[in-house]
Amino acid sequence: MSATATRLLDNYVAGAWTPAAASDALDVTNPATGEVLARVPLSGASDLDAAVRAARAALPVWRAVSVIERARRLFALREGLVARQEDLARCVTAEMGKTIGDARAEVGRMIEMVEAACAVPTTMQGRILEDVARNVDCETIRQPVGVCAAIVPFNFPAMVPFWFLPFAIGCGNTFILKPSEQVPLTQQIAFEVLDGLDLPAGVVNLVNGGREIVEGILDHPGIDAVSFVGSAPVAKIVYERAAQAGKRVQALGGAKNHIVVMPDAVIDKTVGGIVGSAFGAAGQRCMAGSVVVTVGEAHDRLMPALVQATEALAVGDGSDEATEVGPVVSCQARDRIAAWIDRGVADGATPVVDGRGVGGDGIHPEGAFVGPTILDDVLPGMDIAQEEVFGPVLVVVRAESLDEATAIVNASRFGNGTSIFTESGAAVRRFRHDVEAGMVGVNIGVAAPVAFFPFSGWKDSFLGDLHAHGGDAVEFFTRKKTVTSRWFSDGQGHGTYFVET
Ligand code: NAD
Repeated sequence: MSATATRLLDNYVAGAWTPAAASDALDVTNPATGEVLARVPLSGASDLDAAVRAARAALPVWRAVSVIERARRLFALREGLVARQEDLARCVTAEMGKTIGDARAEVGRMIEMVEAACAVPTTMQGRILEDVARNVDCETIRQPVGVCAAIVPFNFPAMVPFWFLPFAIGCGNTFILKPSEQVPLTQQIAFEVLDGLDLPAGVVNLVNGGREIVEGILDHPGIDAVSFVGSAPVAKIVYERAAQAGKRVQALGGAKNHIVVMPDAVIDKTVGGIVGSAFGAAGQRCMAGSVVVTVGEAHDRLMPALVQATEALAVGDGSDEATEVGPVVSCQARDRIAAWIDRGVADGATPVVDGRGVGGDGIHPEGAFVGPTILDDVLPGMDIAQEEVFGPVLVVVRAESLDEATAIVNASRFGNGTSIFTESGAAVRRFRHDVEAGMVGVNIGVAAPVAFFPFSGWKDSFLGDLHAHGGDAVEFFTRKKTVTSRWFSDGQGHGTYFVET
């Protein structure tokens, strides 16, 4: 990486790599080592405006390309990403920190998004009903929304931008991506692949930057739809401000996901599910389980094995194949997470596994490491049980019954994902019915839906009505036009339709 140590990243606008007009830039660092990998420009209004103009100019050109040909470009995109799969995964690990195995899985999901979008000649079809009146037909067709923009977080540098990009362009829209300024490198590779597809100039655009670009996207009259993924406070700002400007908007926010463990759970499998959910990606997944709610005697059955498995996790540089928990994204994030652990302990929690000050072989002194942490004896009302920590910190809360556990889950202001571990169909049926979260796992630690289903968070975890990917993606990236018609020349179209004058 040292050869690229001070590379200043370009934007990709109107089909060409383009230097940002901005003079400000930030370091992009490897959180495992502190090494500077590149510099990312903080683009400004003129950079965004150039991308919007390119995307608007491309809109009629791209829309006129047949939907079958657009799908073929997606097939080519898929092949291009597959060819760069390992580069993409290594880049995710280098800039974000997650383990290489986890990064490969993320890139697999990124590619799966493109595969789902390839179905657009089928999924974009409209509906028609003949004879809504004598010799009158009615049909709804789907057309692109226009210029669509996505603003994305640091934790899935490969996958989350692709929750939107392939579906948007498959539906005939043009697209502007603003990656997270903490992890902008992976999308440089994705855009190298896109650059090789011979798309009309301006169909896809990449604008690096931070808050100024986000605010520009929300206000720009040339942008028709905004997709956002990130923390809950910013999701709220994005949702309100984009809607105020008359845009279509979907805003996916933060989370606090509960895992309910029933007394009859299969303990070794449950421990595996919890450990993967809570500590995978160092707890920096929006579907990470961060609160375990044990029901009755499940607590005493679960805890010894859970503590043992957590203590055994290998913490280190994610690029080492043996590492099980990598660093968090930055030293600021590490310090914020450590402060949360301090606060939980001060509020009365018992640290049964304590990752503060983790060290040893494989831990670089400049790295942003927090070891896996479990806080037991947490009460549901404590801040550590309510607020998103977004790090490898798992809290354990006790309940006496499934109803009490469900009430604890439902008291959260978030409603992204939740899981239950049990062998009881009746308990599952009841939990699935009563729980107020949009994604539910049954004996699954991370119940993130595959590309063909929507990523359907609720409450403060999602603002909007159409979710990311699955069938919702085509709904979001198209607008409906309903045509009512009849024809006179064959002598048939002379019936009455509605009230005619
Ligand atoms: P973040 O909200 O800090 O940043 C997200 C994006 O918003 C970035 O592109 C950033 O540049 C921009 N941004 C940040 N602050 C801003 C501000 N004040 N005004 C305008 N734009 C701003 O989120 P993050 O730290 O990158 O990502 C972690 C968060 O994302 C967590 O809360 C996690 O739960 C959430 N997340 C949610 C989902 C989901 O599906 N619900 C998925 C992934 C991540």
